[in-house]
Amino acid sequence: MGIGPGGEDDLTRRAARAISEADLLVGYTTYLQLVQKMSCYHGQEMYTTGMTHEVDRVKYAAEAARRGLKVAVVSSGDAGVYGMAGLVLEVLEATGQVAQLEIIPGIPAANTAAALLGAPLMQDYATISLSDLLTPLPDILKRVEAAAAADFVIVLYNPRSNSRRDPWEQAVAVLKKHRQPNTPVGMVNKAGRAGESVKLTFLEQLDEHEPDMLTTVIVGNSRTRVKSGRMITPRGYLL
Ligand code: SAH
Repeated sequence: MGIGPGGEDDLTRRAARAISEADLLVGYTTYLQLVQKMSCYHGQEMYTTGMTHEVDRVKYAAEAARRGLKVAVVSSGDAGVYGMAGLVLEVLEATGQVAQLEIIPGIPAANTAAALLGAPLMQDYATISLSDLLTPLPDILKRVEAAAAADFVIVLYNPRSNSRRDPWEQAVAVLKKHRQPNTPVGMVNKAGRAGESVKLTFLEQLDEHEPDMLTTVIVGNSRTRVKSGRMITPRGYLL
């Protein structure tokens, strides 16, 4: 299940019910800390592991479900967008438990970020994760190149971490080849959480900004403009 950006206002009622009814909550520590602050949390058992222990975490969840527990595997945003839904499905397929699985959607970071910035996703857009932990960097850059050449609005997830700066720098170089220097770029950090920040900049000034792993970046297409401090990609209606 996905919990959206993190605040209770953005949690769906269906997700709140699933958390409330669960015997066991499984997920990355940060997300379970967010859940602990919500009214649907009433002391349910939690199993948390750090990043990169995803497979162990899901196997533990499957085993608990086999023992008869109701288990909620928690992702941020939407569970099926760079989240845990795919891995859960694969593990349960292997263990023959798929029939018991329910996937509960949540608001993805792209949509939360877009709403904070204005209306940048009014035309076709592509989301690309810049994390090269599971996808080779040349494949990522090929997608950035294709989306940039086809004039998609581009949403960049997992843009940059302290140990992974290369993908960001190379992706920005590819974007600069295809888009005008004054292309609007929005950066939203910690959307819906304490410390939320929203920045609007332009492709030519991107080098001055350092997004991190809690940032979603939206790069406009050739039609995207900034008006009254908001980013808008006009759908094309005549005013
Ligand atoms: N399943 C999630 C994405 C997980 S990948 C979803 O649907 O949104 C993790 C990436 O999502 C982060 O690196 C960041 O780019 C983005 N992200 C997640 N939560 C965010 C938040 N609260 N604010 C801004 N970006 C966020």
